[in-house]
Amino acid sequence: MDENLEMVIGLEIHAELQTEEKLFCSCSTKFGAKENSQICPICLGYPGALPKVNEDAIDLAIKAGSILNCIINNYSDFDRKSYFYRDLPKGFQITQMKNPICENGYLELDNGTVYINRIHIEEDAAKTIINSNENKVDFNRAGVPLIEIVTEPCIYSKELAKEFVENLILMFKYADICNGKLEEGSFRVDLNISLKEKNSKILGTRAEIKNLSSIKSLLKAIDAEVERQSQVLFLGESVIQETRGFNEKTGKTYSLRNKENALGYRYIKDYNLNPIILEEIYINKIKKEIPIMPKEKKNFYIEKYNINSKYADILINNKAVSIFFDDCLEKYANPKLISNVIINYLLKYVNNNIEKLEINIDDFINLIKLVENENIKKSDLSDILFYMYNEKISLDDIFKNNNYFISSNEDEIRQIVLSVLNENLNAKNQYSSGNNKIFGFFMGECNKKTNKKLNSKILKNILEEELKDNKGETII
Ligand code: ADP
Ligand code: ZN
Ligand code: MG
Repeated sequence: MDENLEMVIGLEIHAELQTEEKLFCSCSTKFGAKENSQICPICLGYPGALPKVNEDAIDLAIKAGSILNCIINNYSDFDRKSYFYRDLPKGFQITQMKNPICENGYLELDNGTVYINRIHIEEDAAKTIINSNENKVDFNRAGVPLIEIVTEPCIYSKELAKEFVENLILMFKYADICNGKLEEGSFRVDLNISLKEKNSKILGTRAEIKNLSSIKSLLKAIDAEVERQSQVLFLGESVIQETRGFNEKTGKTYSLRNKENALGYRYIKDYNLNPIILEEIYINKIKKEIPIMPKEKKNFYIEKYNINSKYADILINNKAVSIFFDDCLEKYANPKLISNVIINYLLKYVNNNIEKLEINIDDFINLIKLVENENIKKSDLSDILFYMYNEKISLDDIFKNNNYFISSNEDEIRQIVLSVLNENLNAKNQYSSGNNKIFGFFMGECNKKTNKKLNSKILKNILEEELKDNKGETII
């Protein structure tokens, strides 16, 4: 890119709200059900069917707005956005255009501040399924509640774009607003991007890249568009305002359609729906329901439990993991060891997308105690946790079938030490004449002699004792 140019990004994000029912009817919103099994006259758009707004969706929108430091409007209402396509049989989508529920927010992040223009509530359209042998429409998604979060064109780096999206997903998960699954389409990012002269306040013409299904794609699409637009400008041509798609395979964007303008959508007020009137008391009540957010939780872990910042990040970055960690601490207060075992041993088996960390917590705590008392070796933790988490085997059974206990029985260990020393008189002599390196050899031989694990501290002490006692008495 020409070094006098810089990119400007604004994001439009659709997040499916985690309500049980759809936005204007009582059909289920559950993902993955049989096609067209969650439908009714309202979400199919039959003439005469009357929508009624789902109050849970309003509450979640208030929470989202509050997390993003928005003004929550006391008055908002619904409009009809007209377009004609088979995923929308009414011929219009119910959305909020003139009076959205939330406005003017911001989110402070490490890479900068993202300003929020608005958040509005709208219904999702049906899903069209097109592949080589099918061409059909699934209305289960029609009428699922969405919020659209629109940022200002204020994002000047990929790092900030990434950090914003990641934080939004995590915060929405924490507050049960949206499950944040980009791959399933419950969280969809549209990228608006343009180039402008560095010292100018005037923005360039933007392109809008639709439906990026992962953060990786978002970052690749940014690169591809910067490249394409700077090429266009370099050739002395101008960027046209249009909607584009992103091809994962080629890593390039391609033109979909010229951007519709507001006039094309023929917005009109939807008088079938009452306006949303929110009293301050009500807004405050909903705000109070918002749980601790990841950033604060991280600070809490650092301050209260003395966990380092890197570990705290790992724990909070997965809601299920941080809940599991909290649950463990309620049962046993050793945050250092518990966080260490979770992060260094358990997490390698844990998929990032889990909703709950499925492991028997009592077994896990008992395991922690065994580690703490040095009854097992840390190096066996990976195997034990594999059986516990992946194979769902109880701790009792794991120990029945394997040799993980460390013997701390001094008499038993002394017997082993003595017999090893007796069998290795040469080595003993070498040790007596000053070759201290041979100590490790004795340790190894003792461990080899038994199929039990020996407590290495005790083993070392006894070995030292016996070697010292024998000094001078050695037969040459
Ligand atoms: P429209 O009314 O066409 O939807 P908006 O003004 O509402 O346009 O902006 C839609 C999105 O595009 C917002 O996220 C905004 O930040 C972003 N945007 C607007 N202009 C630009 C621009 N010149 N460059 C990059 N992003 C932009
Ligand atoms: Zn319905
Ligand atoms: Mg707009």
